[in-house]
Amino acid sequence: MSDNFFISRPVNKSFLKRGFAIPTDVMENLSCHLSGGRLAHGEKRNIKISFGKKIFEATLRSVGFNQEKYSDRKDMWQINYNTAVAKKIAAIFSADKKFFSLYPTARVDEFRLESSAACDEPTLENLLDLPTLTDSQAALLEKFGLNKFRKVNRDIGNRLKRNYNFRCQICGRSVGEFYGVNLAECHHIIPFSLSLDNDAANLLIVCPNHHRIIHAAAPTFDRKRKLYLYPNGHEEFLKLNEHL
Ligand SMILES: [Zn+2]
Ligand SMILES: [Zn+2]
Repeated sequence: MSDNFFISRPVNKSFLKRGFAIPTDVMENLSCHLSGGRLAHGEKRNIKISFGKKIFEATLRSVGFNQEKYSDRKDMWQINYNTAVAKKIAAIFSADKKFFSLYPTARVDEFRLESSAACDEPTLENLLDLPTLTDSQAALLEKFGLNKFRKVNRDIGNRLKRNYNFRCQICGRSVGEFYGVNLAECHHIIPFSLSLDNDAANLLIVCPNHHRIIHAAAPTFDRKRKLYLYPNGHEEFLKLNEHL
């Protein structure tokens, strides 16, 4: 196979569940393979992803972050697919296939996915869910144009944790109290990777259990009613709330 891929990355949770980011340095090249040319800020288009003889529907979108507020940020693009497609992709990328690569095809708006057991590129996965009141410096920084990591102001989250006395806003408990430790965590209500929003208004202070539950069950947060609505119909009101 040719080596002119747009990106080649380790298979991670995001890739198996919803999609992946397009590095800034390949946007121009990738745009040459789009019928509509380069994406405008915030634009979303339908594309096709092929794997072997299978073709999946996907979307290519430019994240519509607030350009006035974050004028120094570059556009961020993502390829996303729905749960049904994600399941098919997850079935193809079994445990032994550790890397995926995205290639152009002869057709516009269609890209080819390939899997491999190895990859030459450096890898860096930052899974920290770092928090912050308002953080105008928040950004996804690029290292060698390949790896993104979070740059957030931790003070905001740490202040919120202290305000809630390290209690979970959902269950109201301070789970570490009995053990003499503080174990509150910060959760971004709209994922930081999509919103780049690290302001207090996007943060929820939760215990580690509720943090895991939120990420596992993917409930919808109802800001008006101050509750999480879970896919199984369960509603859970915030027991504590002073900032949302
Ligand atoms: Zn809790
Ligand atoms: Zn979280």
